[in-house]
Amino acid sequence: MKIGAPKEVFDGEARVAMTPESAIQLQKLGYECLIETGAGKLAGFSDAAYKEAGVEVVKTAAALWKGADIIAKVRPPSPAEVKRLTKDHTLISFFNPATNDKGMEAARASGASVIAMEMVPRISRAQKMDALSSMANIAGYRAVIEASSNFGRFFTGQITAAGKVPPARVLVIGAGVAGLAAIGTSTSLGAVTLAFDVRPEVAEQVESMGAEFVYLDFEEDQQDGAKTGGYASVSSPEFREAQLAKFRELAPDIDIVITTALIPGRDAPELWTEDMVKSMKRGSVIVDLAAEKGGNCKLTVMDEKIVTENGVTIVGYTDYPSRMAAQSSSLYATNIRHMMADLTPEKDGTPIHNMDDDVIRGATVVHAGEITYPPPPPKVN
Ligand code: NAD
Repeated sequence: MKIGAPKEVFDGEARVAMTPESAIQLQKLGYECLIETGAGKLAGFSDAAYKEAGVEVVKTAAALWKGADIIAKVRPPSPAEVKRLTKDHTLISFFNPATNDKGMEAARASGASVIAMEMVPRISRAQKMDALSSMANIAGYRAVIEASSNFGRFFTGQITAAGKVPPARVLVIGAGVAGLAAIGTSTSLGAVTLAFDVRPEVAEQVESMGAEFVYLDFEEDQQDGAKTGGYASVSSPEFREAQLAKFRELAPDIDIVITTALIPGRDAPELWTEDMVKSMKRGSVIVDLAAEKGGNCKLTVMDEKIVTENGVTIVGYTDYPSRMAAQSSSLYATNIRHMMADLTPEKDGTPIHNMDDDVIRGATVVHAGEITYPPPPPKVN
């Protein structure tokens, strides 16, 4: 069968779901590969590089969708793209099944099957297909780079002939995949790094990366989160007050805040209030990775960078993986080819949609004309 990657149509999206390297691996699974001309350009992959990897370059999106049995994409398909789906297609892409009713219904009506990459269960066996984590890792790294390019000072402390420079003080709020990547980047740049999460079990991981875990004056059994399968839950009002009081105390001495706090299925909790922003020093920077879900900082404007009256820069971009398109395309394309490997146990270029497989079942949101979302919980870890 043929697997094809069209050029992404979402405005500003620079990633691509197939790279020359992933295409070589897909061919080893027995697939022929197609790419729309120019699809890899913004991520640094030329048509010539794809051709050299044995990929057929097709001239139009229409020819790509018509010629491929399996379509690999990054962003959820646009309404025009969904219309191209037929019963003979399998689409593998981010799909936002929880909030994309129209797309789900259109896909169902087409008779196609849809594998939604954000639905890959977070079990050990599926880590190599976990695109949410591979993209969050990039976002966390890039958040620190964005902060440093907006911060007019060194991260690391220095003693020079021209004077002594103190290290920057960075606070990372939320130590999931993105937060841990931000912590690692920040400590490796030499900043004094503090981190907080509602899940106290991450303290050890934070400390092993050279950062300091921020504890609250609060009974440990009331630190929420750990009770919901590793994900955070909504904090009690008392816990939230203790958290805000601690942040208020830290704010005047923090140069950079990276916020990544999210609760699955909900708007981002507001954790960095207006008075905290006002108490920060001129030149400080906040990078809010939760901007797409409403922001952890009260003043964040989604997709914009603003500077407050007291000189604090607040960055609310939501496209960090696309800003590192070469790296994110490589990792995402690898996630996809691992998914294809799971779907193709015989390596014969024919996918087997085994709905008894936890990973395939979990990620399949539409199957042969039926909506199969939400999936039952996975049986194994
Ligand atoms: P996420 O992006 O959903 O949330 C980011 C972090 O914000 C989480 O650590 C969360 O605890 C924290 N948070 C939520 N509310 C907060 C608040 N009020 N204050 C401070 N922090 C708050 O998280 P994620 O990166 O998707 O990871 C969530 C969990 O899933 C973690 O336990 C992670 O280890 C686990 N995980 C497992 C796998 C796997 O096993 N394959 C892969 C990825 C993540």
